[in-house]
Amino acid sequence: MGEPVDYDAAWENYRTRRRLFFVVWIVGFVLAAFLNWLLLVLHMANKVTFLGIMAAWMISFIVTANGWSQFPCPRCGQQFFRRARGDAPAKSSCQGCALPFGHDPTK
Ligand SMILES: [Zn+2]
Repeated sequence: MGEPVDYDAAWENYRTRRRLFFVVWIVGFVLAAFLNWLLLVLHMANKVTFLGIMAAWMISFIVTANGWSQFPCPRCGQQFFRRARGDAPAKSSCQGCALPFGHDPTK
């Protein structure tokens, strides 16, 4: 096989992607809502800035959601959470090689 895989680093990478997604989703939304509220209070709100703020949040959301879902399996390199045959999107094991999530086969 190829070079040894650092599973701990790979799962940490996964957790970073997941954390980033939730931070952008929740903190990003709060921030966007706060900015819109602030502009409203300051009488600077208009459709363009509102849409701009929401678009920025949605794009960050899509980028981080994509980064999370595209996480490659540390063992087989397949997309870990590949949607297969209408299954739930989040599985606790790899759809390609059945590696359980967070598992280190070298230990
Ligand atoms: Zn796999």
